[in-house]
Amino acid sequence: MRPVRLHVKLRHAVLAAAVLLVGAVAAAQPVAPVESDTDRAVRDVIETTRDYRQALERVLGFHVKDVERASTLVDQRRELYARGIASLRELETVERALDDARAKLAKTQQEIAQADHALAEALVAAVSPPVPPSPASPPLPEPGVAPGLAPIFVRFRGAAPWSLADTPRIDRFFRERFGRALPVSAYGQTPVHDRLHLDHHQALDVAVHPDSPEGAALLSFLRGAGISFIAFRGAIAGAATGAHIHVGAPSPRTAALTPPAARPTP
Ligand SMILES: [Zn+2]
Repeated sequence: MRPVRLHVKLRHAVLAAAVLLVGAVAAAQPVAPVESDTDRAVRDVIETTRDYRQALERVLGFHVKDVERASTLVDQRRELYARGIASLRELETVERALDDARAKLAKTQQEIAQADHALAEALVAAVSPPVPPSPASPPLPEPGVAPGLAPIFVRFRGAAPWSLADTPRIDRFFRERFGRALPVSAYGQTPVHDRLHLDHHQALDVAVHPDSPEGAALLSFLRGAGISFIAFRGAIAGAATGAHIHVGAPSPRTAALTPPAARPTP
């Protein structure tokens, strides 16, 4: 698969990933050729996400070291406690520090996942025509996707009303089926969505690959319940980066960054 209408330079893996995704999206549009405004909007999305992601990766490196340090300290303190040299309170202090360091690491990992997911959504929002308001029940394959190529994203427009307040219903289904909480990577609007000018206020991102058993079961549940979703297989064909399930209506980009070329032209 090769993007045919975009000439964005490949300077980074995220860039490459995004361009492949955009190539697929562009190929999916039967009428409007991608114009320079769209290219600009796409580049803006990619660069904003890339800078943000690089900053997060630096922070992640610090957190990994913090966890290692705190973990070593806990081991040493346990030893001293067992020998009666350190008090229980002294042991608990370093254990708490380890918990804090792990929590910070997990938070940064989640922010990186949010950035990957939001990038995939922002690219689709930047180059896709708006979704018609009238809902359709059956799953709609993206038009124009080359036969034999698994679509990188699949959109389903459900007839049921949806708001974030309905999340517990999905969580309940997931817990009953898989014995763990719904792996939510983004609940509503996050700072990443603000940066990418995405309206994600009434959307939920679930960190499962749509083709995994969990993802397939979730998609089937959402279709059955008439809840709209977009399933992303990733930003690179064959790689899971960006793969997730977005529950709710598509996230429109706010006007400032929505290029005129993203709208359908006659
Ligand atoms: Zn989303």
